[in-house]
Amino acid sequence: LTNISRIYFKKKKKFSINMAITEFKATPLDTIPSIASTARSTFRTHKTKSLAWRKTQLRRLYWAIEDFKPRLLAALRADLHRSDYESLLTEIEWLKKDCLFMLEHIDEYAKDEKLKSPDVPVAFAAMKFRIRKEPLGTVLIIGPYNFPVQLLISPLIGAIAAGCTAVLKPSELTPSVAMVIKELVEARLEKGAFAVVNGGVAETSALMEIKWDKIFFTGSSAVGTIIAKKAAETLTPVTLELGGRNPAFVTKNADLQLAARRLLWGKTVNCGQVCLSQNYVLIEKGLVDKFVEALKQAYKEMFPEGAKKSPDLARIVNKRHFARIKKMLDETKGRIVIGGEVDESELYIEPTAVVVSSVDDAMMQEESFGPIFAIYPVNTLDEALNVANLVHRTPLALYAFGSKKENERSEFPPFLQNQLPKFYANWQQSSTK
Ligand code: NAD
Repeated sequence: LTNISRIYFKKKKKFSINMAITEFKATPLDTIPSIASTARSTFRTHKTKSLAWRKTQLRRLYWAIEDFKPRLLAALRADLHRSDYESLLTEIEWLKKDCLFMLEHIDEYAKDEKLKSPDVPVAFAAMKFRIRKEPLGTVLIIGPYNFPVQLLISPLIGAIAAGCTAVLKPSELTPSVAMVIKELVEARLEKGAFAVVNGGVAETSALMEIKWDKIFFTGSSAVGTIIAKKAAETLTPVTLELGGRNPAFVTKNADLQLAARRLLWGKTVNCGQVCLSQNYVLIEKGLVDKFVEALKQAYKEMFPEGAKKSPDLARIVNKRHFARIKKMLDETKGRIVIGGEVDESELYIEPTAVVVSSVDDAMMQEESFGPIFAIYPVNTLDEALNVANLVHRTPLALYAFGSKKENERSEFPPFLQNQLPKFYANWQQSSTK
């Protein structure tokens, strides 16, 4: 930890962290343009070009996360009813590691890359070609609610390391976290270079009226589309981290107990509000009963007193998302095989699996982004691959539980993609019969 010592403080400081969390307050709309222009002016001073400056900010961020840990944990508990263990694992320690990783590699990432033949034409071989890494400028980072610290601060670590200044917009659906992050950034990072704007649609829209050098958005595809359209007006580059309907494949060669345990874990961590968790499991028909038994067993081991009584299971973030997930359960024509309990007063939804028989089922059509998932029986792996391609051709993740060969095939080989139109026509025909 030598390179993470608190060397940035001129004098020894004492840290007293006030545990009270300030009530959520949106940033006044009329102040947003000046917040952005301050970040831009700071960038223009060229101070962010210095690697030493960037490293200092990364070290400050590391210690800020460490010092604010109790408050961040409390805020995550307040907003998502999340256990400290899960928050440490998925947000706090993750980010500290990110800071350390970046500090360890920043020199290597930032240095010029030399180019030699055959990367340069022979005619210019005598010239000293190199790729120089220049900071883009001032970036806007818009975060989602599900991992509200990690998914906002991780891109910030990248921005700092690249020598950019940044304005952050946390999710308003996790208001306690949003306020703690604002304090953390304002108290610990260089003023003028980094700022936090709090609010919802109005504030984000105001931010989108400003010309940025890069926008990093994490959230839903629907809002991602709005952001991308607006950014296109000023030809601003965007990174969109969106949602997905992720498949899992289970074949007769799978270890069903292992598959059940892992898939259930994916739907219980953060109460399934994870962009990478499976939306549906494609499983060979003859295995469904055994797989459901394995899921029930895993459920009992994870929640011996029942999921609702568990101190470790988070809750759905708010009533709107609760209603959205419940609607999927209300509308499914499938058969609930584990779970099914809901309680709006606690925003509680039990980890739930539903065996469905159609790709049109509500459980297959939407990203559940909660603790519920579909089990879709298929005849063959080919059929499973085709269904997965039909549901969402570019999911964020896929989980393959089969033989090594089958798992490799699950990477959507191109020849199957070419067969898609034919399969789609056949499938539509058979589903209308
Ligand atoms: P969201 O799209 O509703 O909100 C994301 C951000 O956009 C928030 O800061 C919000 O204030 C802002 N926003 C909302 N509506 C807006 C509008 N009309 N105009 C401008 N800004 C607006 O997403 P969410 O509900 O917070 O997060 C869930 C989604 O994010 C899921 O789809 C999930 O899969 C996805 N996600 C993706 C990743 C990834 O890394 N790919 C990670 C986490 C979450």
